[in-house]
Amino acid sequence: MSAHKIIIAIDGYSSCGKSTLAQQMAKKLGYSYIDSGAMYRAITLYFIRNNIDLKNHDEILVALGNIHLTFEVDEMTGTSEMHLNDENVERQIREMLVADKVSDVAAIKEVRSFAVAQQKRMGKKKGIVMDGRDIGTTVFPDAELKIFLTADPAVRVQRRYEELFKTDPHISLEEVRHNLEIRDYIDTSRAESPLRKADDAIVLDNTNLTREEQLDIALEWVADRATNKSLIPDPSPKGKGGIA
Ligand code: C5P
Repeated sequence: MSAHKIIIAIDGYSSCGKSTLAQQMAKKLGYSYIDSGAMYRAITLYFIRNNIDLKNHDEILVALGNIHLTFEVDEMTGTSEMHLNDENVERQIREMLVADKVSDVAAIKEVRSFAVAQQKRMGKKKGIVMDGRDIGTTVFPDAELKIFLTADPAVRVQRRYEELFKTDPHISLEEVRHNLEIRDYIDTSRAESPLRKADDAIVLDNTNLTREEQLDIALEWVADRATNKSLIPDPSPKGKGGIA
């Protein structure tokens, strides 16, 4: 459908369904999909395993020098999985132990520089969908299409609970709610590239949309951007606005 390959940046709060949408889009468009959150999660796993002191910047720099992150496509499922120093850590990085610490680790300046440099390199050839918190603002400020995904908080908690329950039947709704609230708070209030909607991002609220409906909407935007038409009518003088 697209005339030329573009960069698609998807940002939003925790558990809005960013990775679901990003994967659907990448599959449909034949683009690569990068889950930037998985990179922060893998770094966090390394820090936990090696007892890295989050206040010791020298220790952090040495640790980052020993971390090699790659995404490998699983032949069976076709999904891209996170590898930390050649070990598949896709399952471990989704556990609560990591979820509880990841936002503190992701707020560290050196960690962000390390991850963002790799993410920027991945976008060199375009044809990429990347989801995260700072993709439209910091990683790819010139992305042709930026989507800011939102969903009702109660719906987000329920979705994440159902996902985690599959591997951890002891998890409680309250625990999930608490984790999402804390992560959203840290992600939006940190000094280094906090989560915020880029001025030229389009808001997509998927609270009442099916996966297919949200995909159709997003693909229309891709078609529009890939043929270089302007999607959003001239917003306010400050460039704010978008389709809610
Ligand atoms: O997307 P996911 O929920 O897996 O991300 C885990 C955490 O990684 C987020 O809560 C956030 O603290 C951090 N993150 C980030 N910047 C990104 C992606 C994720 O700070 N681009």
